Amino acid sequence: MCNLTPMMQQYMEFKEKYRDSILFFRLGDFYEMFYDDAELASRELELTLTGRPCGKDVRAPMCGVPIHASAGYIAKLISKGYKVAICEQMEDVAEAKGLVRREVIRVITPGTVIETEMLDDKKNNYLMAIKKDKRSFGLAYVDVSTGEFLATMIDGENVESRLVDEVDKVNPSEIIIFLEEKDEEVYKRLSKMLNSFISYIDEEKVDLNVIRDITIDDKVKENHVSEVAVAALVSYLSGTQKITLPHIDVAKWYTRDHYLVLDCAARKNLELTETIRDGGKRGSLIWTLDRTQTSMGARKLRKWIERPLVDIMRISKRLDAVGNLKDNFIIRNEIMESLQKVYDIERLATKLAIGNVNCRDLISLKMSLKNLPFIKEQLEKLDCNLLRDINSGIDTLTDVVDIIESAIVEDPPITIKEGGIIKSGYDRRVDELRKATKEGKQWIAEFEAREKERTGIKNLKVGFNKVFGYYIEVTRSYYNMVPDTYIRKQTLANCERYITNDLKRIENMILGAQDKVIVLEYDLFVKVKENIASSVMRMKKVADNVATLDVLCALAEVAERMNYVKPNISDDGVLKIKEGRHPVVEKVMDDNSFVPNDTYLDTEDSRLAIITGPNMAGKSTYMRQVALIVLMAQMGSFVSASEANIGIADKIFTRVGASDNLALGQSTFMVEMHEVADIVKNATRHSLIILDEIGRGTSTYDGLSIAWAVVEHIADKSKIGARTLFATHYHELTELEDKINGVKNYCISVEKNGDDIVFLRKIVRGGADESYGVYVAKLSGVPDCIINRAQDILKNLEKEEMKRIQKKLKIPVIDGQIDMFSMNNSSETKLDREIVGEIKTMDVTTLTPLDALNLLYKLQQKVNEG
Ligand code: ADP
Ligand code: MG
Repeated sequence: MCNLTPMMQQYMEFKEKYRDSILFFRLGDFYEMFYDDAELASRELELTLTGRPCGKDVRAPMCGVPIHASAGYIAKLISKGYKVAICEQMEDVAEAKGLVRREVIRVITPGTVIETEMLDDKKNNYLMAIKKDKRSFGLAYVDVSTGEFLATMIDGENVESRLVDEVDKVNPSEIIIFLEEKDEEVYKRLSKMLNSFISYIDEEKVDLNVIRDITIDDKVKENHVSEVAVAALVSYLSGTQKITLPHIDVAKWYTRDHYLVLDCAARKNLELTETIRDGGKRGSLIWTLDRTQTSMGARKLRKWIERPLVDIMRISKRLDAVGNLKDNFIIRNEIMESLQKVYDIERLATKLAIGNVNCRDLISLKMSLKNLPFIKEQLEKLDCNLLRDINSGIDTLTDVVDIIESAIVEDPPITIKEGGIIKSGYDRRVDELRKATKEGKQWIAEFEAREKERTGIKNLKVGFNKVFGYYIEVTRSYYNMVPDTYIRKQTLANCERYITNDLKRIENMILGAQDKVIVLEYDLFVKVKENIASSVMRMKKVADNVATLDVLCALAEVAERMNYVKPNISDDGVLKIKEGRHPVVEKVMDDNSFVPNDTYLDTEDSRLAIITGPNMAGKSTYMRQVALIVLMAQMGSFVSASEANIGIADKIFTRVGASDNLALGQSTFMVEMHEVADIVKNATRHSLIILDEIGRGTSTYDGLSIAWAVVEHIADKSKIGARTLFATHYHELTELEDKINGVKNYCISVEKNGDDIVFLRKIVRGGADESYGVYVAKLSGVPDCIINRAQDILKNLEKEEMKRIQKKLKIPVIDGQIDMFSMNNSSETKLDREIVGEIKTMDVTTLTPLDALNLLYKLQQKVNEG
């Protein structure tokens, strides 16, 4: 270290403090990186790695980016999961005595980005802090770019799964964890599962006093862990990131039971905001519903989808508003057209609060606000509670509009330091200085004409450059005509340049005025900005109401275009859907060929529907469609059906068999069972459960037994009794209808046509009688020779299986028929009359594995009993 130059020593001191960040060290017009940072950045950003002599016989690897292009590079590093510490020169290099003073002015992390260019405007960007207590977790998260600030506490049974669900739902881009807790298993699970960047904070650095200046919901204060999480978040922002949050009003409290609970698996499976296949938006529910016009609306729609409601009153209010807007086509159209002209008021307000706006932002703000009176006028015409609330929540902010309108020119330059931004008529001094400049230039034009005339030098002209200011230029052939009053300043190859006292006097006036006006304009801009910044909270309220209106209009628009209906919301537990459609699949098919289907589930006789049918019949589509319709209804959207009664659900669970989760190092079957366990532990009588082919990941007997036991448990009112759709290709499970109360069989019909089958996609009462696997293989283009061979093998296997079972049950068989005579007389079998009777009614050649299982079970009991 002692070998290093003073500047490199300074660098090392900063690097020591910001070890976990890439240090951008300002050197003139560049940010330079050294040593490991340089090697890493040159790789990640494809920059040339050079070296810099930095002391006696020492050369440091170095690379750098020009200041003006730095934003793009920083964004790239952030998106790759790095932090960037910006170290600036704090004084003018020319004026510095000795080493230039430098300071780290900000550490940019994924969760603290405020630059619009680095953000997705249709998504929130959350920074979250988690604090663990004995049996609970405090959670606080903020979107620095919008000012939204929320807190909650997770406790109760399965607290870790609940935490994972909640964090997954918020999907923060950065999570702050207490250093002391960094080895907690659940955090490891989180970081494996999510893409979030993890930052650590030292317990010592968290001071509860930091939250004194923030208004906090009383509920947060009552829950100490949450309060600590809030404090950690604020400490992290102000201490490490040097960001204060003037635009944040309250840390709002919420709890999970304010909303329909969706576990991670359900959110993923139902493809709410992205598809499973490629993680894209296309093909997700939000893709079908998003007809919002503003980014604020798009972000709010996402929240509504992620957090549907459970309160009938609140849901109905939204539905009424959607209905009202749907019926009033012209008004809706007018509103949507106006909304299209509204910029992101929410993020503009944040920029204002942080002092980070330019003139163009102010003009965008003004243009946006100017649409509000018209929007309000439209809302006046509608008779609906929620829309009335929205209307009264939209403050037109005319004072703000007036300030911007009077002060800032309509088409300002991007820079705020070169003038040309203040409107004439706004400030007398600006006007006078501009007039002086203008008159000066006018004088110079006249001076040129006058001098030409007076001297007779035909090509005399007055020019300007930065070094000499204004000058008179005369070419060689006229040198003899130059008057004595001209003072020679410069000789060039073909001409000479002169000045006069008058010309210099005017020049001083012009340049002085120009300098002054630039300074003055900047001061005025700052004042305007500060003046408007006092209205930030009002803007945020407007933004929130505009966003809600935008979402409601979007939902009305989709409802009309896609023929959705208004669902009836009730608390009677009855889920009755007429001609329901899968909102996404129908949109993708786009040719009206989607076959609608009905649904009836309640909390009494039809609690659990077992849905059978061959592969590709449409079971999964059907079940997801039901879940999506319930979810849409509870978020306040119309639904894809011709009629619907939605008995509110408190939670929706889904489990789809055979999905891979190898990244987590668990086998498919483990994951499946893990999720089933989760459902069984958390579901209530008010929940909706979708089970798709569970028990598939193991052998037939295992799978069947598990599926059976699960159905039994879920359908049992004294245990869960939740409304459930259970799809299975084990057609054997249809037997459960007779055995378990509340279970009803359905199947998705197919038509057999010789060796072919035709999918009808229609759900009907009753069970499928076979699995049709071979037909589906044929349909998928597997060559005939293989199909025929498969059919042979199947028959053989079935025969073998039967023999095995018969042997196990010690059932005497002659020519494929049960030998009733020897059975009745056999002392060896020890079967009582009842079981014999049951077997008699069966055709052993079609004895299914489930029948066998059932018999085995009864036999076992008999043997145990006696
Ligand atoms: P399963 O779960 O029974 O194997 P899927 O639900 O995956 O079947 O459906 C298979 C395909 O059938 C889907 O990709 C879809 O294109 C089509 N499909 C499903 N339901 C319908 C329907 N109601 N109308 C038209 N096509 C459908
Ligand atoms: Mg399926």
